[in-house]
Amino acid sequence: MKRTTGQDRTITRNWRPATQAVRGGTARSEFGETSEALFLTSGYCYDKAGDAAARFAGEQQGMTYSRLQNPTVEMLEERIALLEGAEACRTMASGMAAMTAALLCQLQQGDHVVAGRALFGSCRWLTDTLLPKFGIETTVVDARDAQQFADAARPNTKVFFFETPSNPTMDVVDLKAVCGIARERGIVSVVDNAFATPALQRPMEFGADVVAYSATKMMDGQGRVLAGAVTGTSAFINDVLLPFTRNTGPTLSAFNAWVVLKGLETLDLRIRRQSENALAVGRFLETRVPRINHPGLPSHPQHALAMAQMDAAGPIFSFEVDGGRTQAHALLDALALIDISNNIGDSRSLMTHPASTTHASVAEDKRVEMGIGEGLLRLNVGLEDPQDLIEDLDQALTAAGL
Ligand SMILES: *Cc1c(COP(=O)(O)O)cnc(C)c1O
Repeated sequence: MKRTTGQDRTITRNWRPATQAVRGGTARSEFGETSEALFLTSGYCYDKAGDAAARFAGEQQGMTYSRLQNPTVEMLEERIALLEGAEACRTMASGMAAMTAALLCQLQQGDHVVAGRALFGSCRWLTDTLLPKFGIETTVVDARDAQQFADAARPNTKVFFFETPSNPTMDVVDLKAVCGIARERGIVSVVDNAFATPALQRPMEFGADVVAYSATKMMDGQGRVLAGAVTGTSAFINDVLLPFTRNTGPTLSAFNAWVVLKGLETLDLRIRRQSENALAVGRFLETRVPRINHPGLPSHPQHALAMAQMDAAGPIFSFEVDGGRTQAHALLDALALIDISNNIGDSRSLMTHPASTTHASVAEDKRVEMGIGEGLLRLNVGLEDPQDLIEDLDQALTAAGL
Protein backbone atom coordinates (compact mmCIF):
# COMPACT_ATOMS: atom_id res chain seq x y z
CA MET A 1 0.00 0.00 0.00
CA LYS A 2 1.19 3.47 -0.77
CA ARG A 3 -0.39 6.87 -0.35
CA THR A 4 -2.04 8.45 -3.42
CA THR A 5 0.29 7.77 -6.34
CA GLY A 6 3.02 10.35 -6.68
CA GLN A 7 1.67 12.60 -3.93
CA ASP A 8 3.36 13.03 -0.62
CA ARG A 9 1.80 14.51 2.48
CA THR A 10 3.61 17.83 2.18
CA ILE A 11 1.52 18.40 -0.98
CA THR A 12 -1.75 16.77 0.10
CA ARG A 13 -1.76 18.71 3.40
CA ASN A 14 -2.28 21.93 1.43
CA TRP A 15 -5.43 20.79 -0.37
CA ARG A 16 -8.60 22.58 0.64
CA PRO A 17 -11.29 20.71 2.61
CA ALA A 18 -13.51 19.91 -0.40
CA THR A 19 -10.53 18.23 -2.08
CA GLN A 20 -9.51 16.41 1.11
CA ALA A 21 -13.04 15.04 1.44
CA VAL A 22 -12.70 13.35 -1.96
CA ARG A 23 -9.03 12.39 -1.99
CA GLY A 24 -7.37 12.85 1.37
CA GLY A 25 -5.68 9.74 2.74
CA THR A 26 -6.24 7.61 -0.36
CA ALA A 27 -3.82 4.66 -0.40
CA ARG A 28 -3.78 2.37 -3.43
CA SER A 29 -2.82 -1.26 -3.52
CA GLU A 30 -0.66 -2.74 -6.28
CA PHE A 31 -3.82 -3.00 -8.43
CA GLY A 32 -4.19 0.77 -8.68
CA GLU A 33 -7.92 0.74 -7.91
CA THR A 34 -9.71 4.09 -8.35
CA SER A 35 -12.14 3.64 -5.46
CA GLU A 36 -10.76 2.87 -2.01
CA ALA A 37 -10.37 -0.87 -1.39
CA LEU A 38 -12.34 -2.56 1.38
CA PHE A 39 -10.02 -4.75 3.45
CA LEU A 40 -12.29 -7.15 5.30
CA THR A 41 -9.61 -8.87 7.32
CA SER A 42 -9.15 -9.25 11.03
CA GLY A 43 -5.52 -10.33 10.88
CA TYR A 44 -2.32 -10.11 8.84
CA CYS A 45 0.36 -12.66 7.85
CA TYR A 46 4.14 -12.41 8.11
CA ASP A 47 6.81 -13.91 5.88
CA LYS A 48 8.96 -14.95 8.84
CA ALA A 49 8.48 -15.35 12.58
CA GLY A 50 11.08 -12.65 13.02
CA ASP A 51 8.86 -10.23 11.07
CA ALA A 52 5.98 -10.89 13.45
CA ALA A 53 8.26 -10.29 16.41
CA ALA A 54 9.64 -7.09 14.85
CA ARG A 55 6.17 -5.73 14.14
CA PHE A 56 4.99 -6.45 17.66
CA ALA A 57 8.11 -4.74 18.97
CA GLY A 58 7.28 -1.72 16.80
CA GLU A 59 10.56 -2.11 14.92
CA GLN A 60 8.98 -2.99 11.58
CA GLN A 61 6.21 -1.06 9.84
CA GLY A 62 3.08 -3.05 9.12
CA MET A 63 -0.21 -4.22 10.50
CA THR A 64 -0.75 -6.89 13.12
CA TYR A 65 -4.45 -7.08 13.97
CA SER A 66 -7.51 -5.09 12.91
CA ARG A 67 -8.30 -3.92 16.46
CA LEU A 68 -5.09 -1.95 16.05
CA GLN A 69 -4.76 -1.25 12.31
CA ASN A 70 -6.65 -1.81 9.08
CA PRO A 71 -5.83 -0.29 5.68
CA THR A 72 -9.40 0.88 4.96
CA VAL A 73 -9.81 2.32 8.46
CA GLU A 74 -6.44 4.07 8.18
CA MET A 75 -7.51 5.74 4.94
CA LEU A 76 -10.55 7.17 6.71
CA GLU A 77 -8.47 8.31 9.69
CA GLU A 78 -6.01 10.08 7.42
CA ARG A 79 -8.85 11.70 5.45
CA ILE A 80 -10.62 13.01 8.55
CA ALA A 81 -7.32 14.32 10.00
CA LEU A 82 -6.59 16.17 6.76
CA LEU A 83 -10.13 17.58 6.57
CA GLU A 84 -9.88 18.76 10.16
CA GLY A 85 -6.38 20.13 9.82
CA ALA A 86 -5.42 17.87 12.72
CA GLU A 87 -2.15 15.99 13.14
CA ALA A 88 -3.89 12.69 13.76
CA CYS A 89 -7.23 10.90 13.98
CA ARG A 90 -8.55 7.60 15.34
CA THR A 91 -11.94 6.32 14.34
CA MET A 92 -14.35 4.45 16.64
CA ALA A 93 -17.37 2.19 16.29
CA SER A 94 -19.83 5.03 17.00
CA GLY A 95 -19.95 8.66 18.01
CA MET A 96 -20.56 7.67 21.62
CA ALA A 97 -17.53 5.34 21.55
CA ALA A 98 -15.54 8.36 20.33
CA MET A 99 -16.86 10.69 23.06
CA THR A 100 -16.36 8.08 25.79
CA ALA A 101 -12.81 7.33 24.66
CA ALA A 102 -11.92 11.02 24.22
CA LEU A 103 -12.90 11.65 27.86
CA LEU A 104 -11.90 8.46 29.68
CA CYS A 105 -8.48 8.18 28.02
CA GLN A 106 -7.31 11.40 29.70
CA LEU A 107 -9.31 11.52 32.96
CA GLN A 108 -8.72 9.84 36.27
CA GLN A 109 -10.13 9.78 39.78
CA GLY A 110 -10.10 13.22 41.36
CA ASP A 111 -10.24 15.11 38.07
CA HIS A 112 -12.87 17.71 37.25
CA VAL A 113 -14.67 18.48 33.98
CA VAL A 114 -16.60 21.57 32.91
CA ALA A 115 -19.27 20.66 30.35
CA GLY A 116 -21.83 22.58 28.33
CA ARG A 117 -25.27 21.96 29.75
CA ALA A 118 -26.89 21.47 26.33
CA LEU A 119 -25.24 18.21 25.31
CA PHE A 120 -26.39 15.22 23.28
CA GLY A 121 -28.42 13.00 25.67
CA SER A 122 -25.83 10.21 25.93
CA CYS A 123 -23.03 12.76 26.39
CA ARG A 124 -24.98 14.10 29.39
CA TRP A 125 -25.20 10.51 30.64
CA LEU A 126 -21.40 10.30 30.47
CA THR A 127 -20.94 13.47 32.54
CA ASP A 128 -23.86 12.90 34.93
CA THR A 129 -23.73 9.13 35.45
CA LEU A 130 -20.58 7.42 34.17
CA LEU A 131 -17.80 9.82 35.17
CA PRO A 132 -18.97 10.14 38.82
CA LYS A 133 -18.66 6.34 39.19
CA PHE A 134 -14.93 6.80 38.67
CA GLY A 135 -14.61 9.76 41.00
CA ILE A 136 -14.65 12.38 38.23
CA GLU A 137 -16.87 15.37 38.94
CA THR A 138 -18.50 17.57 36.28
CA THR A 139 -19.75 21.14 36.59
CA VAL A 140 -22.37 21.91 33.96
CA VAL A 141 -22.49 25.48 32.63
CA ASP A 142 -24.44 27.53 30.10
CA ALA A 143 -21.88 27.23 27.31
CA ARG A 144 -23.28 30.28 25.49
CA ASP A 145 -21.50 32.33 28.16
CA ALA A 146 -17.74 31.69 27.89
CA GLN A 147 -17.12 33.33 31.28
CA GLN A 148 -19.01 30.48 32.96
CA PHE A 149 -16.23 28.08 31.88
CA ALA A 150 -13.62 30.36 33.48
CA ASP A 151 -15.67 30.69 36.67
CA ALA A 152 -16.28 26.93 36.97
CA ALA A 153 -12.64 25.92 36.38
CA ARG A 154 -10.75 24.57 39.41
CA PRO A 155 -7.10 23.60 39.92
CA ASN A 156 -8.04 19.97 39.14
CA THR A 157 -10.08 20.77 35.99
CA LYS A 158 -8.69 18.65 33.15
CA VAL A 159 -11.26 18.98 30.38
CA PHE A 160 -13.80 21.43 28.90
CA PHE A 161 -16.39 19.42 26.96
CA PHE A 162 -19.08 20.96 24.75
CA GLU A 163 -20.79 20.85 21.37
CA THR A 164 -21.60 23.72 19.02
CA PRO A 165 -24.20 24.13 17.71
CA SER A 166 -25.72 22.02 20.46
CA ASN A 167 -28.29 19.29 20.07
CA PRO A 168 -31.21 20.11 19.95
CA THR A 169 -31.40 23.69 21.26
CA MET A 170 -28.85 25.03 18.75
CA ASP A 171 -26.88 27.00 21.34
CA VAL A 172 -23.69 28.37 19.81
CA VAL A 173 -20.48 28.30 21.84
CA ASP A 174 -17.78 30.92 21.23
CA LEU A 175 -14.99 28.54 20.22
CA LYS A 176 -12.21 31.11 20.36
CA ALA A 177 -13.19 32.38 23.80
CA VAL A 178 -13.78 29.01 25.48
CA CYS A 179 -10.80 27.22 23.90
CA GLY A 180 -8.67 30.27 24.78
CA ILE A 181 -9.65 30.00 28.45
CA ALA A 182 -8.77 26.29 28.34
CA ARG A 183 -5.35 26.94 26.73
CA GLU A 184 -4.46 29.60 29.30
CA ARG A 185 -5.04 27.16 32.13
CA GLY A 186 -3.62 23.99 30.59
CA ILE A 187 -7.10 22.47 30.30
CA VAL A 188 -7.87 20.25 27.29
CA SER A 189 -10.85 21.44 25.23
CA VAL A 190 -12.86 18.59 23.71
CA VAL A 191 -15.36 19.76 21.08
CA ASP A 192 -18.15 17.53 19.72
CA ASN A 193 -18.39 18.85 16.13
CA ALA A 194 -21.00 16.40 14.81
CA PHE A 195 -23.50 19.03 13.69
CA ALA A 196 -21.17 21.16 11.58
CA THR A 197 -18.43 18.71 10.49
CA PRO A 198 -15.08 20.05 9.26
CA ALA A 199 -16.84 21.08 6.02
CA LEU A 200 -18.52 23.97 7.88
CA GLN A 201 -16.53 24.48 11.08
CA ARG A 202 -12.96 23.61 12.05
CA PRO A 203 -12.70 24.18 15.82
CA MET A 204 -8.91 23.71 15.84
CA GLU A 205 -8.59 26.97 13.88
CA PHE A 206 -10.12 28.59 16.99
CA GLY A 207 -7.82 26.80 19.43
CA ALA A 208 -9.64 23.52 20.18
CA ASP A 209 -7.35 20.69 21.31
CA VAL A 210 -9.51 17.64 20.57
CA VAL A 211 -12.38 17.49 18.07
CA ALA A 212 -14.64 14.44 18.21
CA TYR A 213 -17.34 13.21 15.85
CA SER A 214 -20.33 11.09 15.40
CA ALA A 215 -19.50 10.19 11.78
CA THR A 216 -22.91 8.48 11.74
CA LYS A 217 -24.40 11.87 10.99
CA MET A 218 -23.25 14.15 8.13
CA MET A 219 -20.06 12.22 7.36
CA ASP A 220 -21.88 9.04 6.31
CA GLY A 221 -24.76 11.32 5.42
CA GLN A 222 -27.09 8.68 4.07
CA GLY A 223 -28.20 6.98 7.25
CA ARG A 224 -26.32 3.73 6.72
CA VAL A 225 -23.68 3.07 9.37
CA LEU A 226 -22.56 4.11 12.84
CA ALA A 227 -19.09 5.55 13.15
CA GLY A 228 -17.10 7.96 15.30
CA ALA A 229 -13.77 9.77 15.22
CA VAL A 230 -11.41 11.65 17.53
CA THR A 231 -8.86 14.12 16.15
CA GLY A 232 -6.01 15.91 17.90
CA THR A 233 -2.25 16.26 18.06
CA SER A 234 -0.13 13.19 17.32
CA ALA A 235 0.97 13.22 20.96
CA PHE A 236 -2.64 13.11 22.21
CA ILE A 237 -3.87 10.55 19.69
CA ASN A 238 -0.87 8.22 19.86
CA ASP A 239 0.20 8.52 23.49
CA VAL A 240 -3.07 9.22 25.34
CA LEU A 241 -5.99 7.94 23.22
CA LEU A 242 -4.39 4.97 21.48
CA PRO A 243 -3.37 3.00 24.60
CA PHE A 244 -7.00 3.30 25.77
CA THR A 245 -8.65 2.26 22.47
CA ARG A 246 -6.15 -0.48 21.51
CA ASN A 247 -6.86 -2.24 24.76
CA THR A 248 -10.59 -1.55 25.18
CA GLY A 249 -11.47 -2.14 21.50
CA PRO A 250 -14.19 0.33 20.37
CA THR A 251 -12.81 -0.23 16.86
CA LEU A 252 -14.59 0.85 13.70
CA SER A 253 -15.27 -2.00 11.27
CA ALA A 254 -13.53 -1.82 7.91
CA PHE A 255 -16.87 -2.02 6.13
CA ASN A 256 -18.29 0.94 8.04
CA ALA A 257 -15.07 2.88 7.44
CA TRP A 258 -15.42 2.22 3.73
CA VAL A 259 -19.02 3.48 3.74
CA VAL A 260 -17.94 6.68 5.51
CA LEU A 261 -15.07 7.15 3.01
CA LYS A 262 -17.68 7.07 0.25
CA GLY A 263 -19.91 9.42 2.22
CA LEU A 264 -17.12 11.96 2.67
CA GLU A 265 -16.74 12.26 -1.10
CA THR A 266 -20.06 14.10 -1.22
CA LEU A 267 -19.92 15.78 2.22
CA ASP A 268 -19.16 19.27 0.95
CA LEU A 269 -21.94 19.16 -1.67
CA ARG A 270 -24.51 17.67 0.66
CA ILE A 271 -23.89 19.88 3.65
CA ARG A 272 -24.01 23.07 1.60
CA ARG A 273 -27.22 22.11 -0.21
CA GLN A 274 -28.82 20.85 3.00
CA SER A 275 -27.83 24.10 4.75
CA GLU A 276 -29.52 26.10 1.96
CA ASN A 277 -32.62 23.92 2.17
CA ALA A 278 -32.68 24.28 5.96
CA LEU A 279 -32.60 28.06 5.62
CA ALA A 280 -35.52 28.03 3.17
CA VAL A 281 -37.54 25.73 5.44
CA GLY A 282 -36.52 27.78 8.51
CA ARG A 283 -37.69 31.03 6.91
CA PHE A 284 -41.07 29.44 6.23
CA LEU A 285 -41.42 27.94 9.72
CA GLU A 286 -40.50 31.22 11.35
CA THR A 287 -43.77 32.67 10.02
CA ARG A 288 -45.83 29.83 11.53
CA VAL A 289 -44.38 28.74 14.87
CA PRO A 290 -43.90 30.73 18.08
CA ARG A 291 -40.15 30.03 18.48
CA ILE A 292 -37.40 28.77 16.20
CA ASN A 293 -33.76 27.99 17.02
CA HIS A 294 -31.89 28.30 13.74
CA PRO A 295 -28.37 29.78 13.88
CA GLY A 296 -28.62 30.73 10.19
CA LEU A 297 -31.57 33.08 10.81
CA PRO A 298 -31.02 36.64 12.07
CA SER A 299 -33.61 35.89 14.79
CA HIS A 300 -31.13 33.52 16.51
CA PRO A 301 -29.52 35.44 19.41
CA GLN A 302 -26.06 34.14 18.39
CA HIS A 303 -26.51 34.44 14.63
CA ALA A 304 -23.46 36.70 14.22
CA LEU A 305 -21.21 34.39 16.24
CA ALA A 306 -22.47 31.32 14.34
CA MET A 307 -21.73 32.96 11.00
CA ALA A 308 -18.29 34.07 12.21
CA GLN A 309 -17.18 30.53 13.06
CA MET A 310 -19.22 28.46 10.57
CA ASP A 311 -19.30 28.55 6.75
CA ALA A 312 -23.06 27.84 6.80
CA ALA A 313 -25.55 26.99 9.55
CA GLY A 314 -25.97 23.31 8.69
CA PRO A 315 -29.02 21.14 8.07
CA ILE A 316 -30.38 20.89 11.62
CA PHE A 317 -32.51 23.25 13.67
CA SER A 318 -35.31 23.11 16.21
CA PHE A 319 -38.54 24.95 16.89
CA GLU A 320 -41.20 25.04 19.52
CA VAL A 321 -44.98 24.77 19.59
CA ASP A 322 -47.09 26.01 22.52
CA GLY A 323 -49.29 22.90 22.80
CA GLY A 324 -46.65 20.70 24.46
CA ARG A 325 -46.15 17.03 23.68
CA THR A 326 -49.72 16.59 22.37
CA GLN A 327 -49.35 19.23 19.68
CA ALA A 328 -45.77 18.24 18.86
CA HIS A 329 -46.80 14.61 18.38
CA ALA A 330 -49.86 15.68 16.33
CA LEU A 331 -47.59 17.62 13.99
CA LEU A 332 -45.26 14.64 13.59
CA ASP A 333 -48.19 12.30 12.94
CA ALA A 334 -49.53 14.58 10.20
CA LEU A 335 -46.28 14.59 8.18
CA ALA A 336 -46.55 12.89 4.80
CA LEU A 337 -43.05 13.40 3.35
CA ILE A 338 -40.75 14.14 6.29
CA ASP A 339 -40.11 10.98 8.31
CA ILE A 340 -40.50 10.70 12.07
CA SER A 341 -36.96 9.69 12.97
CA ASN A 342 -34.43 10.61 15.61
CA ASN A 343 -31.46 10.37 13.25
CA ILE A 344 -29.80 13.49 11.83
CA GLY A 345 -27.31 14.29 9.09
CA ASP A 346 -29.26 12.12 6.65
CA SER A 347 -30.03 13.15 3.08
CA ARG A 348 -33.69 12.54 4.00
CA SER A 349 -35.62 15.09 6.02
CA LEU A 350 -36.32 13.72 9.49
CA MET A 351 -38.14 15.14 12.49
CA THR A 352 -38.16 14.11 16.12
CA HIS A 353 -39.54 15.12 19.50
CA PRO A 354 -36.38 15.18 21.67
CA ALA A 355 -38.12 15.07 25.07
CA SER A 356 -39.66 11.67 24.27
CA THR A 357 -36.77 10.24 22.19
CA THR A 358 -33.12 11.44 22.10
CA HIS A 359 -33.30 13.13 25.49
CA ALA A 360 -35.80 10.80 27.20
CA SER A 361 -32.90 9.35 29.24
CA VAL A 362 -32.15 12.79 30.71
CA ALA A 363 -34.05 13.51 33.95
CA GLU A 364 -36.97 15.92 33.41
CA ASP A 365 -35.53 18.71 35.59
CA LYS A 366 -32.27 18.52 33.64
CA ARG A 367 -34.17 18.57 30.33
CA VAL A 368 -35.96 21.76 31.39
CA GLU A 369 -32.63 23.28 32.44
CA MET A 370 -31.21 22.31 29.00
CA GLY A 371 -34.10 24.12 27.28
CA ILE A 372 -35.74 20.95 26.01
CA GLY A 373 -39.42 21.58 26.57
CA GLU A 374 -42.33 19.29 25.74
CA GLY A 375 -43.18 21.42 22.68
CA LEU A 376 -39.70 21.26 21.12
CA LEU A 377 -39.22 19.54 17.75
CA ARG A 378 -35.92 19.00 15.93
CA LEU A 379 -35.75 18.92 12.16
CA ASN A 380 -32.97 17.56 9.95
CA VAL A 381 -33.45 19.03 6.49
CA GLY A 382 -32.38 16.72 3.70
CA LEU A 383 -31.73 16.96 -0.02
CA GLU A 384 -35.36 16.95 -1.17
CA ASP A 385 -36.77 19.97 -3.01
CA PRO A 386 -37.32 22.50 -0.19
CA GLN A 387 -40.68 23.50 -1.68
CA ASP A 388 -41.98 19.95 -1.15
CA LEU A 389 -40.76 20.09 2.46
CA ILE A 390 -42.47 23.45 3.01
CA GLU A 391 -45.74 22.12 1.56
CA ASP A 392 -45.54 19.05 3.80
CA LEU A 393 -44.90 21.20 6.88
CA ASP A 394 -47.66 23.60 5.87
CA GLN A 395 -50.30 20.88 5.81
CA ALA A 396 -48.96 19.21 8.98
CA LEU A 397 -48.94 22.52 10.90
CA THR A 398 -52.55 23.14 9.83
CA ALA A 399 -53.55 19.61 10.87
CA ALA A 400 -51.91 20.18 14.28
CA GLY A 401 -53.84 23.44 14.72
CA LEU A 402 -51.01 25.86 13.94
C1 LIG B 1 -25.46 11.44 17.38
C2 LIG B 1 -24.58 12.25 18.24
C3 LIG B 1 -23.67 11.62 19.10
C4 LIG B 1 -23.58 10.12 19.23
O1 LIG B 1 -23.17 9.50 18.06
P1 LIG B 1 -23.53 7.97 17.68
O2 LIG B 1 -22.82 7.78 16.39
O3 LIG B 1 -25.01 7.89 17.57
O4 LIG B 1 -23.01 7.11 18.78
C5 LIG B 1 -22.86 12.42 19.87
N1 LIG B 1 -22.93 13.77 19.80
C6 LIG B 1 -23.79 14.40 18.99
C7 LIG B 1 -23.83 15.88 18.94
C8 LIG B 1 -24.65 13.66 18.17
O5 LIG B 1 -25.51 14.28 17.36
